[in-house]
Amino acid sequence: MKLKTKIQLYSSLFMLIVILIINTAIYMLFYKISTDGYLEDLVHQTERLVETIKKQPDVASKELFRSFSPQQGMIRVVNQAGTVFISGGQAVKYDVPLDFSTKETQQIIKQKNAPNVAVINKPVIWGTGRHAGEVVTLQVSNQLTTLDSTMTTLFYVLLVSSGIILVPIIFGGNILSRFLLNPIKMLIQTMQENMKKGNWKKINVENRSRDELYEMEMTFNEMIDYLKDNFEKQEIFVSDASHELKTPISIVKSYAQLLKRRGIDNPKLVKEAMEAIDSEADRMSKLVEQMLVLAKNKHAASMEQVDLVTLIEETVKTFQGAYGREVRFHKPESSIILTGNKDQLEQVIYILIDNALKYSNDRVEIRLSEKNKQAIINVRDYGSGIPEQEQNRIFERFYRVDKARSRDTGGTGLGLAIARTIVKEHQGEIRVKSKMGEGSTFIVTLPIEILSKF
Ligand code: ADP
Repeated sequence: MKLKTKIQLYSSLFMLIVILIINTAIYMLFYKISTDGYLEDLVHQTERLVETIKKQPDVASKELFRSFSPQQGMIRVVNQAGTVFISGGQAVKYDVPLDFSTKETQQIIKQKNAPNVAVINKPVIWGTGRHAGEVVTLQVSNQLTTLDSTMTTLFYVLLVSSGIILVPIIFGGNILSRFLLNPIKMLIQTMQENMKKGNWKKINVENRSRDELYEMEMTFNEMIDYLKDNFEKQEIFVSDASHELKTPISIVKSYAQLLKRRGIDNPKLVKEAMEAIDSEADRMSKLVEQMLVLAKNKHAASMEQVDLVTLIEETVKTFQGAYGREVRFHKPESSIILTGNKDQLEQVIYILIDNALKYSNDRVEIRLSEKNKQAIINVRDYGSGIPEQEQNRIFERFYRVDKARSRDTGGTGLGLAIARTIVKEHQGEIRVKSKMGEGSTFIVTLPIEILSKF
C-alpha cells in the first residue's frame, strides 16, 4: 500500500472512531438527562397524588387515578398479598412488574419492540375501604413514547452528521498526505536525477516553513555539497597524481628509447640511463607510497599515550646517523605525554626534519615545550626561507615552491600535506614562520588531551 493511501486510510479511520465515540456519548448522555427529567416529573406527579389521597382518602378511585395518570401511563395499587386492588390510566399497552415493596423506587424498564417505561413505586398507608390502614405500594408509570421518537430522530441526525463530517476528513487526509509526501517525492526525484545524470542538484528550500521536512531537505543539500566537494577534491588529487607520475614515466621512457637507438655502443650513456631509471623508479615508488599514506591518514587511527620527548629523541638520532648533519633537540625539563597515534606523530616530525635538512645546509633545531595544555613542537632551519605568498600554499598537495630544486632533493610535494592531515586528525595546528634568507620555523601545536571522536 502506498504511503499516501496509508495516511489517508488511517487518518480517516481514526477520525471515524473518534466521531463514533463522541456521537455515542452524546446519544447516551441525552438519553440519561431526558429519562432523569421524566422520572423527576413522575415523582412530582406521584407526590401530588399521595397528597391528594392523604387529604381526602375517600376520593381514591379509578376515576381519580385516571385524571392523575400521565398521558401514556397508568397508576396501580398493590397490597401486601401482591394483588392489584385498584388501577387506572390511559391507553395502557405495556406490562411492567408490580410487587409489593416498602421501599420507594424509581426506574426505567426496558420494553421489547416498544418505548421504555418510567416507573415510580411508592409505599403509602391506604386510608379507605377494605384496605384502610394497610401499607400498600402505589405505582405510577409512564411509557416514554415521545422520548423514543426523539431518540430515533437523534440517532439519524448523528448518523447523517457523522457521514457529512467524514467528507472533509477524507479530503483533509488527502491534503495532509500531499503536504507530507511532496517534499519526500521531490527528494526521491532529485536523488534519482542526480544518480542518472551524475548531477549535484539540490532541493529548492525557498519559502518553506522550518519543520522537520525542511531539516531533511537542508541535510540533503548539505550532503550534496559535502559529496561534491569531496568528489572534486578526489578528482583534483587523481589528476595531480597522474600528472606527477607522468614526469618520471616520460624520463624512463625517453632513456629506454635512447638506449634502444644508441645505447649498446655507448657505455657512458648506458650508465647514465641506468642511474636515471633507478632514481626515477625510486621517485615513483616514493610518490605512490606517500599517496597511500595520505589516503590512509584520512581515517581515524588508534590512539594511545605518546611520550613526545622520547619520540623526537629517537627520530633525531635516526637523522643524525643517516645524514651526519647537526640536528639539535632542546628538550623540556619534564616529559610531555599526549594522546595520539605514535606512528603518525613520528611521521610529522620526520617530514619536518627531513624538509629542514633538504632545504638548508646549516644546523637544524627542534624545540619541544608545553603551554596551556598544548604541546608545541618547533622545527627551525637556517636555509633560504619561503616567500611569504607561498607560505600557505606549501601545505597543499603537490605544491612546491621551487619545482626544480624540490625534484633534485627528491621532493614530491606531498610531505607537508600529509603532516597537515595528521595534525588535523589530532585536533592540532601546523603553521610556518619564515623570512627569506634567514630560514624557516615550522610550528606544530597539539592538544595534550584530544576530544574523543575516535
Ligand atoms: P617536498 O616533498 O617537495 O618537500 P613538502 O610538501 O614537504 O614537499 O613541501 C612543499 C614545499 O615547501 C617544498 O617543495 C618546498 O618548496 C617548501 N618547503 C618545505 N619545507 C621547507 C623548508 N624547511 N625550507 C624551505 N622550503 C620548504
